[in-house]
Amino acid sequence: MKITQLCALKKNDIEKHTKKIIKIVKNPKFVCTKCIRVAHEKDFLCHPQKIK
Ligand SMILES: [Zn+2]
Repeated sequence: MKITQLCALKKNDIEKHTKKIIKIVKNPKFVCTKCIRVAHEKDFLCHPQKIK
């Protein structure tokens, strides 16, 4: 499975893809202002805002 949006992931998906998700979140440049998830690319989030 390709991860397109962190915000759309279900709990089961998170458990299955932990390693991929860690790569996306470990150096975050964006935060989702709706779900408070973080990612290095804004495309992974539904309401991204750049972290300053
Ligand atoms: Zn979101």
